[in-house]
Amino acid sequence: MTRLVRNGFQAYLVGGSVRDLLLSRVPKDFDISTDARPGQIKKLFRNCRIIGRRFRLAHIFFRDNKIIEVSTFRRTPADAISDEADGAGPDGKRGDNTFGEPHEDAQRRDLTINGLFYDIQSFCVIDYVGGIADLRSGIVRTIGDPDERFREDPLRMIRAVRHAVQAGFQIEPATEAALRARAPLLMESNVSRLQDDIQKDLERGVFASVLRMQRDMGILAATFPELDSYLSTADPPGTLFGAAWVWQSLSRLDEMQGQDPNASRFRLAALFFPLLEKRLLDAFGPPLHPVQHMKETHLWLIECSHPIGVHRGVREDLKTIWSGWLRLHVCLSAGKPPIRLKRKPYFKEICDWARFHAAVSGESAERFDARLQTALAAGKETGNRRRKRRRKARGPR
Ligand code: ATP
Ligand code: MG
Repeated sequence: MTRLVRNGFQAYLVGGSVRDLLLSRVPKDFDISTDARPGQIKKLFRNCRIIGRRFRLAHIFFRDNKIIEVSTFRRTPADAISDEADGAGPDGKRGDNTFGEPHEDAQRRDLTINGLFYDIQSFCVIDYVGGIADLRSGIVRTIGDPDERFREDPLRMIRAVRHAVQAGFQIEPATEAALRARAPLLMESNVSRLQDDIQKDLERGVFASVLRMQRDMGILAATFPELDSYLSTADPPGTLFGAAWVWQSLSRLDEMQGQDPNASRFRLAALFFPLLEKRLLDAFGPPLHPVQHMKETHLWLIECSHPIGVHRGVREDLKTIWSGWLRLHVCLSAGKPPIRLKRKPYFKEICDWARFHAAVSGESAERFDARLQTALAAGKETGNRRRKRRRKARGPR
């Protein structure tokens, strides 16, 4: 910001970082808005790359893969900006419609609490949108008419819920009414942007509360109808999961956030495995067979994970945990030792998931471990007996 200002430009810290600093939270990233055009920013910073097709932004790269996003003040709502309107036209004036003044840039932002500017020259927060008052009263409110803003970009509804939950704020009544009315629009929203937003929700450690509010507002019915209806049905007797299990596990995983490296993967497992179990039971009936339905498991895991956009590698991991865990479950239920499974490199991970599943279902970790140890000890004994028998059959050397 100092370099931009020294070179005669305006530059403000904007968006989520100002909000988080005012709430005494550590910002995830820093965004800067300036009146310098992308080309002018590039000239000032060697460590700069211009990105984006529709809106050209500058990314300034720092050590440890830190990126500061620098955008030029914009005027119109996002979707009215075209490729050409970038200021890079031959006459150098083509972009004038797009780029605007700071107060116009604030108006195009999503929520009042995200529309604040911080001026490093005067150490002042500039508030064009009433964000300070809403931060003080703990209110999430769209900038401008909520109905219009949500129709313009339905993903703002997901953002409103995330920020309300994260900050522990209330959604203002008119914003909430528009959100409930417009939630179905999310069905038609851009899939990759939707996936990016859901990923953010998954990473924040307040996912259970976010999902609860999304469900209450009708967002989940639009983005992930299968999960929404699963959570609405009563727990079927005898199944391994149920709606109550899903909620409990998600809350537990939120508590584990940042402490347990398994939290993210288990969160996805807690969302997809119930759906997988339901599909398998509906199609084949009980009991679930860990190996027989591998093909369906593979295809359905892709289908279930579609709205969230789970990376292929993670999906393969989930498949391994699912089938390995079912095999372990079958063995332990029958009191048989999981001999072959124990040799697999992923055995520990499967035990971790099984312990987690058991704990959420009401079994203590100690009891589960005792059950597992008994089965493994029985396996050792069986192995010893088998070896002895083989040695006997071979006869003396
Ligand atoms: P966090 O980074 O903590 O998730 P954030 O508010 O900083 O929250 P970003 O995605 O980094 O979220 O966006 C930066 C800023 O860009 C926002 O604070 C907001 O002002 C603006 N913004 C982001 N998405 C939209 C949108 N869909 N419509 C309007 N403005 C948006
Ligand atoms: Mg941010």
